Amino acid sequence: MNIFDTHAHFTEDREKTSATLERAAAAGVSRLMAVGGSPELNRAALLAADTAQAAANTGHLPAVFVALGLDRDQAAPQGTACPRYDFSAAIDSRSRISAIGEIGLDFHYAPESARAQCDLFAAQLELARELGLPVVIHTRDADDATLGVLDENDFHNGIIHCFTGSVPFERKLLDRGFMISISGIVTFRAAENVREAARYAPDDRLLVETDSPFLAPVPKRGSENEPAFIVHTVEFLAHERKTTPDALAALTTANAERILSC
Ligand SMILES: [Zn+2]
Repeated sequence: MNIFDTHAHFTEDREKTSATLERAAAAGVSRLMAVGGSPELNRAALLAADTAQAAANTGHLPAVFVALGLDRDQAAPQGTACPRYDFSAAIDSRSRISAIGEIGLDFHYAPESARAQCDLFAAQLELARELGLPVVIHTRDADDATLGVLDENDFHNGIIHCFTGSVPFERKLLDRGFMISISGIVTFRAAENVREAARYAPDDRLLVETDSPFLAPVPKRGSENEPAFIVHTVEFLAHERKTTPDALAALTTANAERILSC
């Protein structure tokens, strides 16, 4: 298989990252996107890309693309200025930055910071526009606010990661030009709404991801997730969409290449 895991997080442990990337390659992951969201996650994403790059001539690690940004948990406390991510380290790195992310809104865990989250989200969209990059969006219990910020900024270029919303919300995001990325949650018994959304996404708008180290798919539930486990999500999703795992992998990889220009 030729799978593109569009959303994985890493730590700054170089050896662990290297071993994780090796297992991913052995499982059929040819490419992945290392996703930031905080200063630590941003550094770890760059380290993953540098690790893959250092081994590029051996050809035994997946190609690693990078998303950098400031997620909702970095939103400023009330009355202080909205933080700005310093991209100088990233610009100095040899790794190419393919997206701004993850960014977005989560009113499930932090409803009290809604206003600050929206300000930060809007600032990150502005940055993405300046750099001409797509964004990776997290949205939970914030359907209307997410659409509101996107519309205020007239923004149409990106990925809705780990989609767990309803089909009506999905339709509004598709209408605005976004890709829908499905994680291992689709394999969870209670996640019928995610299966419905996964079947609804058109062929040219569907992506797959692990969101590792979180959300290991069945039959790996309970263990720390990693990109190699995406195979289970691809197999499950192929069955849901009445296609083969190879065809689903090819389709989602082509979509990832298009949105990330790689
Ligand atoms: Zn994530």
